[in-house]
Amino acid sequence: MSYQFDPIGTIATPYPEKFAIPRQPGLVTAARGVISLRADCNREEILRGLDGFSHLWLVFVFHEAMREQWKPTVRPPRLGGNQRIGVFASRSPFRPNPIGLSVVELESIEKKGSRWQIHVKGVDLLDQTPILDIKPYIPYADAIQDASGDYADESPATLNQISFSEAALAQLHQQAGRYPQLKELIEQVLSQQPQPAYHRDPERIYGMQLMGFNIRWRRTGDMLSVIEVERL
Ligand code: SAM
Repeated sequence: MSYQFDPIGTIATPYPEKFAIPRQPGLVTAARGVISLRADCNREEILRGLDGFSHLWLVFVFHEAMREQWKPTVRPPRLGGNQRIGVFASRSPFRPNPIGLSVVELESIEKKGSRWQIHVKGVDLLDQTPILDIKPYIPYADAIQDASGDYADESPATLNQISFSEAALAQLHQQAGRYPQLKELIEQVLSQQPQPAYHRDPERIYGMQLMGFNIRWRRTGDMLSVIEVERL
């Protein structure tokens, strides 16, 4: 038996590409998302009571991970990318049904013109990800005090020595009026160490796209230096 669901909307996020998206929600709190609802869900009543909750569950489609062939085992980056575990013991996007689940902070619900928009924080989703459902996070049932997380028991190690070149600071300054949180977003994303762990060449320049900007940086030991923040 098969079931078909139409997304209830899409989410706009700062991440136009998969590279550099954090592995779970809440790791980059400066990553904001805006959910727009499809026409028949774009109504005040459907949202009634939602603003009483601080956090929401988003159920979504990994729309850029649709493969006809899925594999029963995957290699989670947390295990160094060498060890295989069952896909159901992972949060990999490549699964029999490519459905994702993220808890995010609810910032506000606003109406822009005729469109309702749900503003959330801490997303780990690609820009324009289709959202299948929204549910309130219920602390008494969803927060489990003594839960254990095996290989993902703790949040990933971060790098916190991040500097910006004069040129990058000038570019950020120029954009500060329209994008006041861009620097914080870049710092939080880079602190998650998006470049592969085995890359250690201090001359190598990495690049990522965030919020319509191309960010370039180098890594020397545990220090990251942002070279350029270019508007695309
Ligand atoms: N929190 C969700 C979960 O557990 O189901 C997602 C976890 S998954 C490990 C997070 C990664 O999925 C991100 O780092 C990004 O590379 C990828 N991703 C996010 N949105 C996606 C999309 N719409 N299609 C494909 N991959 C996506």
